[in-house]
Amino acid sequence: MAGSILVVEDEPAIQELVSFACSGGGYKVRRADSVRAAQEAIHAQLPDLVILDWMLPDSTGIELLRDLRRDERTRALPVILLTAKGAESDRVAGLDAGADDYVVKPFSPRELVSRVRAVFRRRAPQHSGESLSYGPLTIDPARHEVLVDGKPVRMGLAEFKLLKYLVSHPERVFARGHLLDSVWGDHVFIEERTVDVHVLRLRKALSAAGAEALVQTVRGLGYRLSAKAEQ
Ligand code: CA
Repeated sequence: MAGSILVVEDEPAIQELVSFACSGGGYKVRRADSVRAAQEAIHAQLPDLVILDWMLPDSTGIELLRDLRRDERTRALPVILLTAKGAESDRVAGLDAGADDYVVKPFSPRELVSRVRAVFRRRAPQHSGESLSYGPLTIDPARHEVLVDGKPVRMGLAEFKLLKYLVSHPERVFARGHLLDSVWGDHVFIEERTVDVHVLRLRKALSAAGAEALVQTVRGLGYRLSAKAEQ
């Protein structure tokens, strides 16, 4: 369950190369060849990361990046700028506009994928495809396995995704609405009460290993994963 990537690039050969490299890295890939197509794709479904070319036919990647950073829904969306502009002033402009990383053409596809992985690790570890751990918990996304003190614990897919998200951001309190957007996708219309149902199921699954107290209710705010005593 690695993340989904939107590749925004107007040169077909480079779009193909980048998409192929990202698919090979285990990511789900969608493509856009203009700022407008990218906006439509992002509107339809929020990707987990965007690889964004600077020079596009209808506008610039930098303009799109600024728009993404202004919008609440896309403010935290990880973006890697891809460009032939390698001058220091261009790199600074790109990073100042809010890019998480900056890759200069020509680039090695392997390096690009390793940068994608690094950005995911830093910004959205639940999509990096690597093992996550917190306290006695270890999650292996590739094998779809949850371990408590090294022993496997079985749970449903929704509980697995919820736990993966919480383990990626331990000690932080999340409102139900935020968990819905982050775990179930922000265009899915389900009630916030659904989160409570899955939290109950998750605690039940973890209770088999005596780890249910890790998933804590913070009254009036939401839920958090913490190995500290409940407040
Ligand atoms: Ca271009």
